[in-house]
Amino acid sequence: MPATVYIEEPPPLTNLSRAEVLDALEKSTSEWEVISSTVDFKIVDNQKNADILISWTLSYHMPAYAWGYATVWPSSVDKEIGSALIELRSDCDWKDAEAVDFQSTLTHELGHTLGFSHSDYYDDTMYFSIEPSDTSKRSLTRRERALVRYMYPRSLFSCAGFAKVALACDDLECAEIMFESEQCYDDAIFEILYAPLE
Ligand SMILES: [Zn+2]
Repeated sequence: MPATVYIEEPPPLTNLSRAEVLDALEKSTSEWEVISSTVDFKIVDNQKNADILISWTLSYHMPAYAWGYATVWPSSVDKEIGSALIELRSDCDWKDAEAVDFQSTLTHELGHTLGFSHSDYYDDTMYFSIEPSDTSKRSLTRRERALVRYMYPRSLFSCAGFAKVALACDDLECAEIMFESEQCYDDAIFEILYAPLE
């Protein structure tokens, strides 16, 4: 079952149109729908029954004056993620030079709704902060994609054997040549580089 996502109409001060907001949301949800993972988001046009609500909040009501903030509630039934609220600044121009990138912010906050917390790796989308206008965090790093597959595996197919070979290889370039399948390559990289996220 896909997680349904609803985003409220952007307030005028954000300088974002409905179309721009939906385009960024489409791209940011797709980024987490990693091949061979079960992550699946569906953008809906009705707030009713949305698992994830994306809302707009005044800056001074945002925790630590963040540009985006996610609150996630586990399901009472299976202890997995049940619903989430993503809050975004409602009273700032998201296209200002000092603003953080809207799509990157959405991608980061969606990561929290999947249960991921902050990464210690600066390049990761889930790093705790982002410089103004930096768009590089729109894309997950290879390490993060591997983590998504690890946390949300689609099948029992395992690349463990390949990973062992890669470890023997002990060098990423060598490993890259050995794996044509991106899935196995990412799993191998995961084995080599994975450090637990906090
Ligand atoms: Zn965060």
